[in-house]
Amino acid sequence: MIGAMRAGLLLTGMVMMMSAQTRYDLVLKGGRVIDPKNGIDEMMDLAIKDGKIAALRTGIEASEASRVLDVWGLVVTPGLVDIHVHLFSTTGVAGAWAGDNSVRPDDFSFRTGVTAMTDAGSAGWRNFETFRHTVIDRAQTRVFAFINIAGLGMLTNIVEQHPEDMKPDEVARLAKKHGDVVVGVKTAHFEGPSWVAVEKAVEAGRLAGKPVMVDFGYFRRERPYWQLVTEKLRPGDISTHAYRAPAPWVDEQGKLYSYLTDARKRGVLFDVGHGGGSFAWRNAVPAVKQGFYPDSISTDLHTGSMNAAMMDMPTTMSKFLAMGMELRDVVERSTWRPAQMIHHEELEHLTVGAEANVAAFRVMDGDWTFLDTDEGAYSGKQRLMCELTVRAGKVVWDWNGRSGLDYRTLGPEYGVRPGEAIVRP
Ligand SMILES: [Zn+2]
Repeated sequence: MIGAMRAGLLLTGMVMMMSAQTRYDLVLKGGRVIDPKNGIDEMMDLAIKDGKIAALRTGIEASEASRVLDVWGLVVTPGLVDIHVHLFSTTGVAGAWAGDNSVRPDDFSFRTGVTAMTDAGSAGWRNFETFRHTVIDRAQTRVFAFINIAGLGMLTNIVEQHPEDMKPDEVARLAKKHGDVVVGVKTAHFEGPSWVAVEKAVEAGRLAGKPVMVDFGYFRRERPYWQLVTEKLRPGDISTHAYRAPAPWVDEQGKLYSYLTDARKRGVLFDVGHGGGSFAWRNAVPAVKQGFYPDSISTDLHTGSMNAAMMDMPTTMSKFLAMGMELRDVVERSTWRPAQMIHHEELEHLTVGAEANVAAFRVMDGDWTFLDTDEGAYSGKQRLMCELTVRAGKVVWDWNGRSGLDYRTLGPEYGVRPGEAIVRP
């Protein structure tokens, strides 16, 4: 009897000990958590278990977790969602042209806090499935795509100029077949005077039941930008490269044109898509100062933009801090808002039960100068730097070595793999 009781107590004790050990796999402790979806902006601890968000509260004890990372002084956010990047980089032949020279997703995502990316039309309906099998399905980064209305996507600039190869029914068929990763339709770089590229993309979007993202290509008198956003696009459609130099944002008095607010009232969305030639301070500063914030902050990441003024998501976000936006607004437009725009509300937020995609940034105070894509400069006092990225519960970027232990505590043979031996002379 006593033996049984003791065994029971022992068992209870063991279970308690085990649950204490395994309650959480990872805790990020002491950061300022900004989670726009849940309206959170306060100091909290974030706990992760089995790849999912397990708790968000103050005072999580170190003893409750297998691993605790001290993120005091950092801003903890959901993983960033960059909805305008170029990733069709499988071979020299398949890589996209048109200023959109693709990169591989994992090469650039985690080091900048990005855990989900959307390729913006690098592949068209003729080569989308190659893109899916060679890139999308192989990446650790969660990758989505807009399919280009042009058959060969951005293979060359020339293939985007042929309306006869823009096939709405083919795009819609693929969008349905690959509904788990396709989030919409793209048209880009069109140079002709007609609306045909936009109209065919919208037709594909209608058939697929998905939004359209428009890179307006060459701005021409025959098809004014105001008409694109007030007449041609539907609610939920996205105008990217919003601050490109030829887009008219303010009148001679510096006042925001009313067609922009009309377009926004209709539900048309404005994406930054900074890129290598699509971000002019001359447009962005007055827009932001007059309260017209972008719906989504995105990079238009490619080999041209990443080594120029754009650089990465944290730099692009810092530009909006410089223009006077609050950090929480910048984070919202880099996480939850773009997730909504591509209709993937399961990411990126810190709700308990959600996949644990998390980033932590240092806000570096200083005198920073930021460039636009047209040689303009603008100064700011804060700059974001990604120090930690977690993808599905796993630390995938650790700039400040938080996830390690002092090597002197790891024993005399740490790092030696099973079957290996240190053969001393
Ligand atoms: Zn692009």
